[in-house]
Amino acid sequence: MSFADLGLSDELLRAVSESGYTEPTPIQSQAIPPVLMMKDLIGIAQTGTGKTASFVLPMIDILAHGRSRARMPRSLILEPTRELAAQVAENFEKYGKYHKLSMALLIGGVNMGEQVAALEKGVDVLIATPGRLMDLFQRGKILLTGCSLLVIDEADRMLDMGFIPDIEEICTKLPAQRQTLLFSATMPAPIKKLADKFLSNPKQIEVSRPASANLSIEQAVVETSSRGKRDTLRGLLRAEDVTSALVFSNRKTTVRDLAQSLGRDGFKAGQIHGDMEQPERLRELDRFKAGEINILVASDVAARGLDVKGVSHVFNFDVPWHPDDYVHRIGRTGRGGATGKAITLVTPEDAEAIEAIEKLTGHKIARSGGSKPAAVREESDEPEAKPTRGRGRRAAPKAEAPARSEAAPASEALVAREPRTPREPRAPREPRTPHEVIPIDARPPRESRNDDRRPRRDERDDGPDEGWNGPIPSFLEVRLG
Ligand code: ADP
Ligand code: MG
Repeated sequence: MSFADLGLSDELLRAVSESGYTEPTPIQSQAIPPVLMMKDLIGIAQTGTGKTASFVLPMIDILAHGRSRARMPRSLILEPTRELAAQVAENFEKYGKYHKLSMALLIGGVNMGEQVAALEKGVDVLIATPGRLMDLFQRGKILLTGCSLLVIDEADRMLDMGFIPDIEEICTKLPAQRQTLLFSATMPAPIKKLADKFLSNPKQIEVSRPASANLSIEQAVVETSSRGKRDTLRGLLRAEDVTSALVFSNRKTTVRDLAQSLGRDGFKAGQIHGDMEQPERLRELDRFKAGEINILVASDVAARGLDVKGVSHVFNFDVPWHPDDYVHRIGRTGRGGATGKAITLVTPEDAEAIEAIEKLTGHKIARSGGSKPAAVREESDEPEAKPTRGRGRRAAPKAEAPARSEAAPASEALVAREPRTPREPRAPREPRTPHEVIPIDARPPRESRNDDRRPRRDERDDGPDEGWNGPIPSFLEVRLG
């Protein structure tokens, strides 16, 4: 099957071939024809399977005819995060270069005035995160009554981030006569319900089991201890043939500390987590894409769906709390046909979490022993605001809880059990940075650190964006055809 068999226009085929794609991915070859026939569609395929082009390409041809009107976008694409929205915009630029389509990006963290100005002129394609869209809608800056094509992308992530009520509300503002496409890696019940309510007679395409292990990813588990994790990781980073790596951690503070400590050890490491301002995150991402740094330490929320090409390795510094996140994380490597390696550091406390992952993927991950645990003290740490769909599938809360509330006694107990071998004199400890110690009473109350809750609006990646009204980074710039 080639792109030419899918019914796309010649101009589009030219742009596709210039982008270097030779063959459509399975989701693309199955989704593009029905979308071109204006059917509603549900596309289920795991991360990294090319879902973006499966709606961007037919949309460009569908929108090629017709004119946009002021404040009335002709199509709307909803994305859970700013980064994903920006990536979709990049796709429209790349494939739409022989078309005269106008596009606007409505995301938090960039100047609203320019976004509004673009809308005023009328756009063919509006790419938005739900929060910012609702905001503009409420200010009367936008009318969705002319919007005859809606894409709800990364629906399962939308659910994770608590956006479903916003999406429902947005859906009611669009004309009933429209085409609706929904893409997701998984199909949990609330997404099915959403689809039943807002799609009409959709064609459902499921390309591979969402949790099935990607064949182009070599997976391994390396056993270590929580105190030896950093050493194990450093050892692996040196031993493996790492050209570029994403290192995932469950907590924002671990992301920060780990990136700093890797930097001190001479690694070219950067970081990306939900507490960083948008320009800062984009800057790190750019540095990573440009090869200025080749290790990016990330939290799940910040890294969600990022299209970073050519990552040779994914390291799970922490076993993810939710097995689904494992699939999403390792999907960052082995993309677009290249092989990649995903290595997960596992401590004895992670046994249950790893079991849950193996159960979900139906695949036993190969074990190998890591380096000997070293006397590296784990700092107490706050969890990354980790939204969940509330299905009670928490993988390792039991192991986490004591470590957080009684950090000192727990680590003492560990030390006591470990055989004390004579050690070389230790190098003086690096000076502690203020954020390493979090006084007990300065921490959020127990329940607000609970992992199983709906995220507050300000914890989402699409949260409030006061604080930056600066220039739009070049690749985010609104382009008017
Ligand atoms: P998803 O949304 O399913 O997670 P993306 O649309 O972000 O996946 O695509 C994942 C990666 O695969 C991107 O780097 C993209 O450029 C690449 N890709 C998509 N389609 C093709 C194709 N037909 N041939 C080669 N690479 C592709
Ligand atoms: Mg996607």
